[in-house]
Amino acid sequence: MISPEVYDLHCHSRASDGVLSATEVVQRAHLHGVTTLALTDHDTVAGLAEARLCADSVGMTLINGMELSANWKSHCFHIVGLGIDPRYPALLASLESMQITRDQRAAKIADKLAKKRIPGALEYVQQKAGDGMITRTHFADFLVSQHHVDSQQEAFDRYLGKGKAAFVATEWPELEQAISWITAAGGVAVLAHPLRYKLTAAWMKRVLATFKEAGGQAIEVVVSRMSADDIKLATHYATQFDLAGSMGSDFHNPANQWVELGRLAPFPDKLKPVWDLLN
Ligand code: AMP
Ligand code: MN
Ligand code: MN
Ligand code: MN
Repeated sequence: MISPEVYDLHCHSRASDGVLSATEVVQRAHLHGVTTLALTDHDTVAGLAEARLCADSVGMTLINGMELSANWKSHCFHIVGLGIDPRYPALLASLESMQITRDQRAAKIADKLAKKRIPGALEYVQQKAGDGMITRTHFADFLVSQHHVDSQQEAFDRYLGKGKAAFVATEWPELEQAISWITAAGGVAVLAHPLRYKLTAAWMKRVLATFKEAGGQAIEVVVSRMSADDIKLATHYATQFDLAGSMGSDFHNPANQWVELGRLAPFPDKLKPVWDLLN
């Protein structure tokens, strides 16, 4: 009997806001039966070389990925790029500009926290992120560590989420721009976790039309914590806009018992899978 392929095309390492090294992510995915993995850190490809070494040693297929932050009508969307060339010079230049955007945003978030009498955030997140991208997850961990909140969720609800005390509106690249970076680097652009943006059906359709028009080729239809109804709805959107489907855990942290590498609902029958577009 041929054992089935197990795909996980969305996860994070310490290169952004994951807690495991790229090597540990690949090892853990392998342990959980994943046969094809895409490492998709926020706005960086820095973990991919290390992930590749480990994937080769355990005989796993690794797809070069990243998850770009992008703006459309002042909403932030996440676009996963799969099968990109991580050495493509124009992409590296673009990601360098993202690093600057993130560093500047981090300083602004820290200033807002300091005005709320919560000093020391910037030093903490810089130290924790090391060479990796600084994300709001790092700020959430800071707020938990300083006992300002009890959980990451509460940190977002009270301080870091849109419209909250330490929220900073950020100039990410426009959606079309982010997609073009991915396609120019030889990759396939995938709209990440489409139901997490809390859009009405009408707005969802508008963004999907824009995404498709700009060269986007797939949307995630199976992500951790999506219900059967969510999967149905996302599959409906994919079919309606003639987009392929993708699946991934969005794993960040082994301490989160709800999200595990490779632990996903089955891919919907009859939907075109994104891996058919990757070579
Ligand atoms: P950033 O890209 O720096 O804005 O950070 C976004 C990251 O924060 C996401 O990729 C998630 O990992 C995390 N995040 C966003 N919202 C929440 C939330 N409500 N609870 C916990 N983590 C969150
Ligand atoms: Mn994240
Ligand atoms: Mn995301
Ligand atoms: Mn993610």
